[in-house]
Amino acid sequence: MQHEPFMPKGRFISRYSAQSEELFERVAPTPVSNPRWLRFNAELAEKMGLDTREWTGDSGLAVLSGNRPLAGNEPIAMAYAGHQFGQWVPQLGDGRAIQIGEVRDPEGRVLGIQLKGAGPTPFSRQGDGRAALGPVIREYLLSEGMAGLGIPTTRALAAVTTGDLVHRETPEPGAILTRVARGFVRVGTFEYFAARGQGEAVRSLADMVRSETGSAEGSGVHVYRSWFEQIVAAQAALIARWMSVGFIHGVMNTDNMSVYGETIDYGPCAFMDAFDPKRVFSSIDRQGRYAYQQQPGIGLWNLTRLAESLLTLLGESTEEAVEWAEDSLGRYAEGFHQAYDEAFRKKIGLRSVSELSRSLVADLLEIMAEQGADFTLSFRNIVSLVQQARSGRSGKLPGFGDAAALVPWALRWSSALEAEGLTESKADELMKTVNPLFIPRNHRVQQVIDECGDSGDLSSFESLLAVTSKPFLEDSSLSAWANPPKAHEVVRQTFCGT
Ligand code: AMP
Ligand code: MG
Repeated sequence: MQHEPFMPKGRFISRYSAQSEELFERVAPTPVSNPRWLRFNAELAEKMGLDTREWTGDSGLAVLSGNRPLAGNEPIAMAYAGHQFGQWVPQLGDGRAIQIGEVRDPEGRVLGIQLKGAGPTPFSRQGDGRAALGPVIREYLLSEGMAGLGIPTTRALAAVTTGDLVHRETPEPGAILTRVARGFVRVGTFEYFAARGQGEAVRSLADMVRSETGSAEGSGVHVYRSWFEQIVAAQAALIARWMSVGFIHGVMNTDNMSVYGETIDYGPCAFMDAFDPKRVFSSIDRQGRYAYQQQPGIGLWNLTRLAESLLTLLGESTEEAVEWAEDSLGRYAEGFHQAYDEAFRKKIGLRSVSELSRSLVADLLEIMAEQGADFTLSFRNIVSLVQQARSGRSGKLPGFGDAAALVPWALRWSSALEAEGLTESKADELMKTVNPLFIPRNHRVQQVIDECGDSGDLSSFESLLAVTSKPFLEDSSLSAWANPPKAHEVVRQTFCGT
């Protein structure tokens, strides 16, 4: 370990580590034997006001592998609890993530920087605090793909290998992901302090989060209420966006739900290939609690746990707080449906939401489910599919079964376009800006992981990142990256990174 701290350019600050001591434990990363770069995200670094040249040198590598401290920043692991698969777990916390610092970006927003896989913390329980190469690459690709789609998410600033083995079912190469977020406060963070009756911690944490999310100043009940409403609206909008790209989070436990409305904790998550609303990927989700179509409901369930944790802030008395929170949570469904309808009417190329747009969306999804159609390509190719359906030509477009199944739908869709004064080509233009061509497909992610692990070859990693960071851009030379898996390539299950 190089003890001399690295002092990079950038506006580093202490927000979380300056809060009251009960919120976290001070703990430094455990050094690793032989760190090497997998990737540094220069584009993100620039947005954060960091100097890429400085970070891509030995000092940056040492900091991002946990071998060297960052000057003026105190590394910490945060305390939190959570409901996992509906069960209360009073003590979780950052068991394999250490926040090494916080930075104010050029736009004035605070961003936290965490090393995931940086060694044990007081919250590690039986875990080793480490991460294996596979889950690190997976999180890098999925979170950056999410960002490419314009959906709020934690970002990947860097990934390194450690030179050490981690022991899972078999020994695997160790790696560390540097992730960046507006903050790492989760629903479970509030649950932790509320359950312990630490009302002051709940309040100060709420004040800290509020001050960074543009919420009004002050300390009256109304201020906390409007902040809570913001969280509810942001979460409803986020889940609607996930649904619109066929994303399944996989472990929507309350400890994996950020109060900043960002997608966080890319474990056994996946973008669906063949559409099935009941689809589950996670090997541990045996009941399908976190299936695709369950996600909106689970969002509400988690927000209800958040409301319970904030009751001391949401009313003068518990009774008043409960009554208000019930009303407020009652508006979640409306917020979700609004965001969902809006996202999906764009996906079928319409200008506005109506009864007709809703039923067209629902019916198309039903046909897609019956056909086992590829979620991404079916939306991307609606015009071609409809043309094929109309012409009665045989032959299949990739990712769709029998276009003839679309004939009645195509008729209704055409008249809906006409009613809005849209031509098919105009609608197609709109659709191509919202229906991605490239998503980080599971079989491709697996291929990248295998190649990185076996030969250290990073070329597919770079290619997959390149296409998914511009997911709407057509490029015939890259079309192979858009294809659904062949039968033997389908990945049926995903696993937690633990
Ligand atoms: P997750 O299901 O990945 O969200 O993690 C649930 C809890 O387990 C969190 O408190 C994590 O910090 C902790 N955890 C997961 N993996 C490890 C690990 N390898 N070592 C220590 N703690 C871990
Ligand atoms: Mg987690």
